[in-house]
Amino acid sequence: MDNSEIIIFDFLVVGLAEFLRLDTLDQIPKYPYPDFLQRACNTLALKMTSIPYPRTLEGLLTLLEKPLQTWYPLSIPKEFDSECGFIYDRALSEEASQYFYEQLVKRGQLPEFASVKIQQIALENFLFQRLLERLQEANEKDAERALQEYILLRRFLIENPYTTLESLRKTFSKTRYISINDVGELYEDCKENESYWCCDRCGPLIKKHGHLRGIKPSVCNDHRKNLSYVRRIYWKQGLRRLQFGIHWRVCLPGIPEIRLFEALKKLHQQQPEYLCEVQLWPGIDRYDLQLRFGDGSVWAIDVKDYRNPYDLALQLKPIFGEGDLHYDESFYVIPNHRLHQRQDYIDILREEATGLPKSTHLFSDTAFEERVVAKIMHLSKGK
Ligand SMILES: [Zn+2]
Repeated sequence: MDNSEIIIFDFLVVGLAEFLRLDTLDQIPKYPYPDFLQRACNTLALKMTSIPYPRTLEGLLTLLEKPLQTWYPLSIPKEFDSECGFIYDRALSEEASQYFYEQLVKRGQLPEFASVKIQQIALENFLFQRLLERLQEANEKDAERALQEYILLRRFLIENPYTTLESLRKTFSKTRYISINDVGELYEDCKENESYWCCDRCGPLIKKHGHLRGIKPSVCNDHRKNLSYVRRIYWKQGLRRLQFGIHWRVCLPGIPEIRLFEALKKLHQQQPEYLCEVQLWPGIDRYDLQLRFGDGSVWAIDVKDYRNPYDLALQLKPIFGEGDLHYDESFYVIPNHRLHQRQDYIDILREEATGLPKSTHLFSDTAFEERVVAKIMHLSKGK
């Protein structure tokens, strides 16, 4: 694929992230465009031949909402689903956000002249990465403490998308490898007297045109204010909100991990003789959960929440299992809502995940819990 065409594509995504304000409260985009969005649009205007390039901003935004495969004149990176558009509901589409975050921010490939706000997202990612590396290093000589602090940090970020300085101080005053400041940098100040909203299923919400919008509509897309899982957060002194990049990268994917962990912990408490241990993020997140059973067998589990099973299939590889991370069976677990969206999800995954050994199982989270219950039953009958 032509490299200069990828650069145009990247400019478009980053330019739109900036222009539409990825993380913002109600704002209507205004001229001028960010510089490189303008450059990308100029190239588009030259290359579009089958349909004319729109003359107004309104026309351009409407065009950018359409599936790329119906109009985009240049090549499209394989990581971007061409059935999607760049924009959805006048904000960056989920597919474009995903591309922005996974392809550009994570790999450090943002254009260097991107705005301060965009660079900020890259910085958050770097700060978290640095913290993770510090804990991994500590893991080599002080494994138990390092893992304990890693779990404390990660759970805190998942369960407290809004927090206060006081609560940060309380939680991280005695940690050895993480400072209050390290965690504080992953949050931003909330505006005084502004009211905020949070969804228990997908984290902080954005107010957009009078309704509430989640960070990833395919995970959760109903945020009417009277729903039980949608909560209003009232401003108080020192209130802080998770930074966008950490919300996307740590908080959101962690929600189904914690949900499964809690369900398994309950089984462990009921039957500790047969399900002896449930360990979260063993080896500082080499995988998500490790189960030890009464017969000595060990299972390794990774939870994966992807909209598109074809994308996920590309990511699946054998789960790391050296040393303490050794396991007898391994599982990739997919949150149920993905199977409701697409009934053949697991079948596609099985077909497409060619890099996966036959011994790695693919399950929905409900089916996986049933499998654990069956294993416990089997062990208890053998007594
Ligand atoms: Zn939600």
